[in-house]
Amino acid sequence: MDGKAPLHPSVTRHEEVLQVKVPLPFPLRWVNSYLLRGKDGWTLIDPGLRTDAAEALWDEALAACGIAAGDIARIVLTHHHPDHYGLAGWFQMRSGAPVLLSADGLEQARRLWGGGQPMTEQLLALFREHGLPAELALPMREHMDGFVPSVSPQPEVTPLAAGETVRLGDDVYEAIATPGHAAGHLCLYRAETETMFCGDHVLPQISPNVGYLPGGIDENPLASYLESLQRISRYAVKRAFPGHREPFGHLTQRALELIRHHDERLEAMRSLLDSPLTAYEVCRLAFGERLTLHQLRFALSETLAHLIWLREAGKVQAEADEDGIQRFSRL
Ligand SMILES: [Zn+2]
Ligand SMILES: [Zn+2]
Repeated sequence: MDGKAPLHPSVTRHEEVLQVKVPLPFPLRWVNSYLLRGKDGWTLIDPGLRTDAAEALWDEALAACGIAAGDIARIVLTHHHPDHYGLAGWFQMRSGAPVLLSADGLEQARRLWGGGQPMTEQLLALFREHGLPAELALPMREHMDGFVPSVSPQPEVTPLAAGETVRLGDDVYEAIATPGHAAGHLCLYRAETETMFCGDHVLPQISPNVGYLPGGIDENPLASYLESLQRISRYAVKRAFPGHREPFGHLTQRALELIRHHDERLEAMRSLLDSPLTAYEVCRLAFGERLTLHQLRFALSETLAHLIWLREAGKVQAEADEDGIQRFSRL
């Protein structure tokens, strides 16, 4: 903060970076979008989930900052999750700006929300195979289909690869591969100012969800996530701008804390397997019975990511019964 009066209650200035809190209809409450001014226009990072409230907030916040939609020169996405990607198409329609996202992120967005939404079928089949009760399959499908308006229209994406540089405002940042929380997740780093836009890879206070999705883009997302945390912990970062909560300055420490958190969760899940259990049963024991459908979807994906890590490490095994239902047991 540089002491100037706030431009708008949802906008916070951190030197050259404007943080915009865009509302979310989930307990996370908001996603952080960031705006950086450059000679050729503004860079917008992770514009948020498309809802009426988010559109209204953006209209107000941009007016308060004196930014017209046409002043946006590029839209950069750390990853494809709807709370970050959802408004990218809406902003592209209004600004004509390119939308930059990793190729894996683009591929996942296509499978989730592109024609026919093939991921919905695959994910439901996977969940059923891992013990999701039949009576929850239909509500789960409706829940997933319910996201489509919040990510529409789909933007036309310009792929951004890890190792490439990208201009944010007037400064050049490096895109760093940090898969795990999402396939193709990128953190954006500038060594000169030790600044990082870390998306949802590292969050203060919250442990980012690491979930398994079918389709072969990442067969062991928790292994990818832990490796990405190791990689990112080696960067010198004075200012980390996360996708949720507030900017923070202890990225290395937080990355190492998250590694310990997953080590403990892996051990806790393995210790639940006194007898063979489905991932759904492990999920209920680990996360409880009082989950909304939204929470259950992420908890079950997270449980699967941990069980798959344990299976790949030779610490548990999975066996299918005659109905094709998989059960995990401790080795
Ligand atoms: Zn995310
Ligand atoms: Zn997020």
